[in-house]
Amino acid sequence: MDTAVTLRFASQPVDLSALGRALRGRIIEAGDPSFDDERQVWNLAHSAQPLAIVRAADARDVATAVGFARRNGIEIAVRSGGHSLAGHSTGDGVLVIDLRDLRGLHIDPAAGMAWAGAGLTAGEYTAAVAEHGLATPFGDTGSVGLGGITLGGGIGWLARKHGLTIDSLLSVEMVLASGQIVTASESENADLFWAVRGGGGNFGIVTRFCYRLHPVDQILGGALVLPPTRDVLRSLVPIAAAAPDELTTIAMIMPAPAHPAMPEEHHGRLSLVLMFVYAGDPEAGRAAIAPFMAVAEPYGVLASPMPYPGIYELTAGGAARHASTTRSVFMRTLDDASVDAMMAAIDVIPAGSMIQLRVFGGAMSRVPATATAFAHRDAAVQVSVMSAFVDEASAPAAVAWNRGLFAALEPKSTGVYANFLEDEGDARIRAAYPAGAYERLAEIKRRYDPANVFHRNQNIAPR
Ligand SMILES: Cc1cc2nc3c(=O)[nH]c(=O)nc-3n(C[C@H](O)[C@H](O)[C@H](O)COP(=O)(O)OP(=O)(O)OC[C@H]3O[C@@H](n4cnc5c(N)ncnc54)[C@H](O)[C@@H]3O)c2cc1C
Repeated sequence: MDTAVTLRFASQPVDLSALGRALRGRIIEAGDPSFDDERQVWNLAHSAQPLAIVRAADARDVATAVGFARRNGIEIAVRSGGHSLAGHSTGDGVLVIDLRDLRGLHIDPAAGMAWAGAGLTAGEYTAAVAEHGLATPFGDTGSVGLGGITLGGGIGWLARKHGLTIDSLLSVEMVLASGQIVTASESENADLFWAVRGGGGNFGIVTRFCYRLHPVDQILGGALVLPPTRDVLRSLVPIAAAAPDELTTIAMIMPAPAHPAMPEEHHGRLSLVLMFVYAGDPEAGRAAIAPFMAVAEPYGVLASPMPYPGIYELTAGGAARHASTTRSVFMRTLDDASVDAMMAAIDVIPAGSMIQLRVFGGAMSRVPATATAFAHRDAAVQVSVMSAFVDEASAPAAVAWNRGLFAALEPKSTGVYANFLEDEGDARIRAAYPAGAYERLAEIKRRYDPANVFHRNQNIAPR
């Protein structure tokens, strides 16, 4: 097969067959029957035509692909679970280094740790370790890849009880821009280990993660479906922040689900769907959610004891690929002006759009801000404006609504979570890394990737 193609980023045609022969894994090029599916990522707004996809079989393959791309002047995109909101795990003309075949998982319950390949999803890992009554904190949706969520920070259902994903990260194996395969931990390459705990894919390609495991067995999980009133919004942060650490909530202003536990007359009704995990005794969990129901009579209550992975079944819809756009802010409080802005936006919310509110505190906030590159430990709440495009014709109106609400909230923003950024410019990347974190990351970037080989990410330029 003739694989010589002319690249956008290379001055000479490149013969990919040499790369194919050097790999233990495989290379998938345009024309391969699986290429069209393989190239797709979660956010279909970033559907692109990569040059080829390397399905790496091990860290050596990753190093081989990095070396090949560098020698031939080909841009690299790194893919773990493919859920980048910004579409960074693909691109026109890029070589995608796809880690999905790195699926090794070694669970050591006695030592309370697990080594996991970067190709696993949060849901796969969570289901496997739950067999031992254990868990590591990840996000709200099981289909998200370990790679992206961990390197950005990882804010999910156990954030208040056990912290961010990175707070349970013990060590990583990674391939540097030089092709060298190294370990980073508190005791080895400690600067790199600090940087990968929040600094994203800037410093190399992580092939394996070692996580701490926590005892998490039965939880109380589900959702309170509340009317989206001003009072409900105003009480959300005070109640959720005062709750026991076991309770972590993620609220979404969206149509109520057509769930059998919901009275039919409320199906599809615009609501504040307060999803929650109480990682402890289910009866204590019922007491912890009671204060929300004192503010307003719920349209419906879905609350059941379940094994921890059960919560991912309730959010499985999030795995479906679609085109979308997101704008997000951290805030110290949800003040009246912000609540008013949200109430006004709710009145004209387009189909497919929602406002997501996450209240923090607990374990994630007790880690010192300088301990990891994720430094927003004092954020009280995150507000994310998320718009899925139901069709092409209505997309411009959805974007206008999304940006309108974002503009109203931004003056109160104290920063942003790198994993909830799209391509929004350097000032927003800097807002993800406050209090000297950006400068420290830029310095570490200079040492490990001075040529900025890994730049399809929330890019920190080498200093
Ligand atoms: C439906 C949905 C729900 C989400 N929920 C949450 C949530 O609850 N909490 C939360 O914190 N985040 C959440 N996110 C955001 C998510 O953490 C980021 O989008 C994350 O980057 C996705 O990781 P991924 O591996 O699936 O993505 P990918 O698109 O594969 O990777 C994104 C980028 O991360 C870098 N990267 C990925 N893997 C590696 C690696 N092994 N080595 C080096 N760099 C790598 C690369 O720069 C890559 O382009 C959600 C996203 C979606 C789409």
